[in-house]
Amino acid sequence: MMSMDGHAEASVELAAITRNVAALRAHVAPAAVMAVVKANGYGHGAVPAARAAVRGGADWLGVVHVAEALEVRRAGVDVPMLCLMAIGTDDHAAAIAAGVDLAAGSADMVRRLAAAAEVAGRPARVHLKADTGLSRGGATPADWPAALAAARAAEAAGTVVVAGVWSHFASADEPGNPSIDAQLTAFKEALAVAERAGIAPPVRHIANTAAALDVPQARYDLVRIGGGCYGLATLPGGAPPWLRPAMTLRARLVLVKRVPAGAGVSYGHRYTTSRETTLGLVPLGYADGIPRSATGKPFVFARGRRWPIAGTVCMDQFVVDFGDESVTEGEEVVLFGPGDGGEPTAQQWGEELGTISYEIVTGIGSRVPRSHYEIAL
Ligand SMILES: *Cc1c(COP(=O)(O)O)cnc(C)c1O
Repeated sequence: MMSMDGHAEASVELAAITRNVAALRAHVAPAAVMAVVKANGYGHGAVPAARAAVRGGADWLGVVHVAEALEVRRAGVDVPMLCLMAIGTDDHAAAIAAGVDLAAGSADMVRRLAAAAEVAGRPARVHLKADTGLSRGGATPADWPAALAAARAAEAAGTVVVAGVWSHFASADEPGNPSIDAQLTAFKEALAVAERAGIAPPVRHIANTAAALDVPQARYDLVRIGGGCYGLATLPGGAPPWLRPAMTLRARLVLVKRVPAGAGVSYGHRYTTSRETTLGLVPLGYADGIPRSATGKPFVFARGRRWPIAGTVCMDQFVVDFGDESVTEGEEVVLFGPGDGGEPTAQQWGEELGTISYEIVTGIGSRVPRSHYEIAL
């Protein structure tokens, strides 16, 4: 493990991202891989994550907002990129000018993108989104023909190129859930309706990490992999062992002290020492992404074992009861990582806290410095 300069840090093993993408690419071939680097690369840093993914052979990058796409483009990463959410107020002309593809799930959005294309002075590359049952973005079967017709009209006018047709699953992380087959059938139908309307998209895509791993017939031409790039998945039990979690969250104890038996610890005294003991203070709190619900959880790895969080997680800090272990001020503790040193994983945090690993890693606050390195030492 590398040591850190400051009081806490999220360190990101870039080679893990590169290898994860390469392994995923081999796994889903001949489908191509879009590495999703939205939300600051799931908290790992959008630009370093994008570069690491491209080194691993990512054919595409996926983001949500135009601003996220432009950040990656400005860093000089020039592989095909798609903004996954159709947001009417985004600066679409800037995205088109930067060679970024955009999503549209309605005739109205297609027309907005066509208008932005006139401003940008080049056609908008559009991925038409069908709602196959998630009832989030995308056109329902009733609205799909109008979206297709708008796209055909804009193609004829030279303002739009249909670059893809796509959709998204509701329950790809629940193997065998009947909605998966129902959505695949609906997607097939949406593609057939598009073809009859004269649209034969160069790429068709519906799978996220869970579907790419678990539903081979969902891979089509391209899979959109977010969590998998970072060694995470929302499938039961998490990602397969051939994917390596890339982020390690660590901190230094900023204070160590002996307290007597019967000391109430942290807000509300929800923990009381049962005997004289050593408390250590970890300078991370819920403002940094340590959920308040982690109170009492055995999430602190030090001296070869896991220690429970003693008492309430505060905004900026929490306390650990180390018993008679002679921990020292400045000593490093690990909150989660790939798990190979005995530390908990983000997957285990998610399981313990009734959420998913994605919420843990994306929740690590901007106050926590990220450090990027190639390979764990
Ligand atoms: C975030 C996102 C993905 C990636 O999902 P993972 O489960 O992280 O692989 C794929 N598609 C869409 C539309 C998304 O918003």
